[in-house]
Amino acid sequence: MTSTGRGESLTIHNARLRGTDGLSTVAVKDGNIASIGKQQSSIEAEGGAIDARGGLVTESFVDTHLHLDKVFTLAGLGERALREYQSGEMGTAMRAIETASQVKRSQNADRMLELARRVLAMASWYGTTVVRAFADVDSKAETRGVEVLCELRDEFSGVVEVQVVAFPQDGIVREPGAADLLRAAMEAGADVVGGIPWIEHTEADMAEHVRCSFEVAETFDADVSMLLDDAGDPGLRTLETMAVEALRRGWTGRALAHHCRAMQLYPDPYFERLTALLRAAEVSVVSDPHTGPLHARVAELMDRGVNVALGQDDVSDAYYALGRSNLAEVAFLGCHLLWMMHRDGQERLYDAVTVNAARAVGLTGHSLAPGSPANLVIHRHSNVTEVLRFHEAPAAVISHGRLVDRARMAELAGVAEL
Ligand SMILES: [Zn+2]
Repeated sequence: MTSTGRGESLTIHNARLRGTDGLSTVAVKDGNIASIGKQQSSIEAEGGAIDARGGLVTESFVDTHLHLDKVFTLAGLGERALREYQSGEMGTAMRAIETASQVKRSQNADRMLELARRVLAMASWYGTTVVRAFADVDSKAETRGVEVLCELRDEFSGVVEVQVVAFPQDGIVREPGAADLLRAAMEAGADVVGGIPWIEHTEADMAEHVRCSFEVAETFDADVSMLLDDAGDPGLRTLETMAVEALRRGWTGRALAHHCRAMQLYPDPYFERLTALLRAAEVSVVSDPHTGPLHARVAELMDRGVNVALGQDDVSDAYYALGRSNLAEVAFLGCHLLWMMHRDGQERLYDAVTVNAARAVGLTGHSLAPGSPANLVIHRHSNVTEVLRFHEAPAAVISHGRLVDRARMAELAGVAEL
């Protein structure tokens, strides 16, 4: 696959930009956005020219949360875990994780590679250029998932940037050897240290889980990504624990919070105190409202200045039956599930799968501005409402300043080209 955009240039004509009237021209050179101008003062095209035909051009999609080691495993699992995870107010979410865990013993690395490759190609087809991908690390999976995802990270270099998270899905304190495996996974090439403290049996163990993840992160100078409070229990407070630990260790802006579904049940005074802490620790929150009956309070967090992103989370695994790594579809679902249906809500959710998402996973300069890296989508529709309505694959995707080979991605993804 292509690697860099150095030396290449291309010009996008007839582009519609968010918040701008009329049509614009976007020039790309050496992997970066060189200039953005009004159509009339058309910039000289040195290299290839693309006619956007009045379609919306924006920053590409960024998926902050994807269990890439588990994609398309639902068929071989049966639906028991799915029913446990999605029942009522998520009282049996922990049991679902225990049920789903059994499949890992029999998972084959070649098959995982094949299925994960298909989903990365699908993500690219739908306009994603960055994926934060989780791989389970525990006594069943050991570090196999991390090794597979690292291989794919190299394979998709220049097309989809894959950030591999070493994720102790079955716990650290309760799972024998998990802390050592987490270190081994980082040595094997993982980029980010994961965590899921709420799954431990006691509050002391939850705190120890958080401490242990940060200790590994410090050793490897890595960012942290934790799945927090993912059940219908308002007593779960591991988001607070993680934010406090991030502040204490100077990991401000480097710890990302996922799910936080118990937040929906928190009393308002506690929620207010918590948001102040999240701002201080610069903790972004990733919500996946389509994969469970509860969700973080997305609009309220945004109102209070907390950076919020959405993620795909799952593609046909024990926790979610559907999904195709289409972030416009994720935002479309978010409009309904979060009741952010008005124009302003739509625009905010579009940010949540593009610019906010980039910030959440530690990328700087993911913006449609001269000098920024050229990671762009050229949509078939002219505004955010129409893009969300149809949530179709974009007409073109630019990654690292280069046009992505869509025919190749369609072939790898197994989708028929439109
Ligand atoms: Zn998840």
